[in-house]
Amino acid sequence: MFKPDLWRGKKAGILGLGKSGQAVANLLHAQGVNVFISEESRIPHANLLGLAPGITVETGGHSQELFKCDFWVKSPGIHPKTPVLQEGAKRGIPVFSELEVALAFVPKGVRVFAVTGTNGKTTTTALLGAILKLHAKTQPQKHFVFVCGNIGSPVSLCVDQVKPGDDMVIEVSSYQLEDSTYFRPHVACLLNITPDHLEHHGGMRNYIKAKGKIIRNQRANDVFVVNGADVSCAELSAKAKGRVLAFSTQPKHLLKTAVFFDGDEIVFSEGYQIRPPQLKGIHNVENAMAAALMALSVGVSADTVQDAFDSFEAMEHRIEQFAYHRGVVYVNDSKATNLDSTITALKSFDKCRNIWLILGGRDKGASYEILRPYLTEYCKCVLTIGEAMEKIERELPGYPVTRCYTLEKAVETAMTQAKRGDVVLLSPACASFDQFKSFEERGKIFKRLVDARIFKDRTAA
Ligand code: ADP
Repeated sequence: MFKPDLWRGKKAGILGLGKSGQAVANLLHAQGVNVFISEESRIPHANLLGLAPGITVETGGHSQELFKCDFWVKSPGIHPKTPVLQEGAKRGIPVFSELEVALAFVPKGVRVFAVTGTNGKTTTTALLGAILKLHAKTQPQKHFVFVCGNIGSPVSLCVDQVKPGDDMVIEVSSYQLEDSTYFRPHVACLLNITPDHLEHHGGMRNYIKAKGKIIRNQRANDVFVVNGADVSCAELSAKAKGRVLAFSTQPKHLLKTAVFFDGDEIVFSEGYQIRPPQLKGIHNVENAMAAALMALSVGVSADTVQDAFDSFEAMEHRIEQFAYHRGVVYVNDSKATNLDSTITALKSFDKCRNIWLILGGRDKGASYEILRPYLTEYCKCVLTIGEAMEKIERELPGYPVTRCYTLEKAVETAMTQAKRGDVVLLSPACASFDQFKSFEERGKIFKRLVDARIFKDRTAA
């Protein structure tokens, strides 16, 4: 376990200069640790404006200086088999995760909520954050709700402001869980497990194992909210030491559930009913069920959950309908970076075979074959982009796809040919890093390209 007192005055090596690397560097520096950041890639120093003076940085490779550090903090994206980590292990350098270092600075009396799963993490984290923030307003004792982790702001960035009585809602990825040993959320949630990040974890078994760490250190008083219809989730729940609350929208499930959906409202076994937020797709009912169960398990009222759901707005890049032009609807689902999330997006539409699906980007190891029945049922045309184009064609033999190479070309093709009643959907099932900085940049560029073409059409008319 990371014990801050042991490391004051010592030297920390931070591996990775991403957002969380910089945040943990500042946190440790403020606590009297000497901090050295080492980044394998070349990163312009202009990106480092947020670092406290006194923190030293090397980029473009790891030097011997890194091996002189007393301990390391590993950024979640770094592959566990990276040579530098293997060398560090040989030399016996202790390695901690950013999440566990950050949480070591959280005082006692703070409730920690953690959300993981292959898909739906950000939405569920945001929903729970909204509920708990509304609840906090109704309490006589003022307390804060910190929403952090993968959702945007690293845990290390907020821990120095957290006080006893506050709540933390953390979105946790499988990478962060893989690196965790002592992480113990009081209320944990596992939304689903479908193939993703297989190249990083080295297969499905390791991926499931990493997700399972969300409950590893839980105790009898803790709560585990879990998808009762997902085989891997149900299997993992057998190991839960705390109270298990299962949810599902499916008629068939493997665990006894605490809620069901009657097609209109979420019905809880205690008898009350809550209308889900106005978000497209049945998957969002599941996300709402999970967030509600987490909140209700700590005594939040059903009325507060309902109020939070009623005022919750759709999130950018997640089945986000952003334009309507000449009878065609444009939807940005750039956050769909794996096959399951693309299937989820398709299933949120009617089976009218009217979708122009933009698919592709950086491949993540799973087979596109699984998409075939959904493409047949929902799509009019599949437009491929990016590095994954050839693999998509290879794995969908005989299925007609239109190679577009770039998002720009895909948008132009779809906008020229789509007819009234059609939908143009960016839901790529791939990571964005082959052509974009992030899924956010990909989504924004998609929206900009569509908007520019609409503007051109309108001015020409
Ligand atoms: P994450 O943070 O896990 O990537 P998001 O909440 O950002 O998840 O949603 C990303 C995409 O995943 C959505 O656009 C949707 O296509 C899909 N998705 C969201 N929630 C679920 C769910 N509960 N089950 C399956 N797919 C989902």
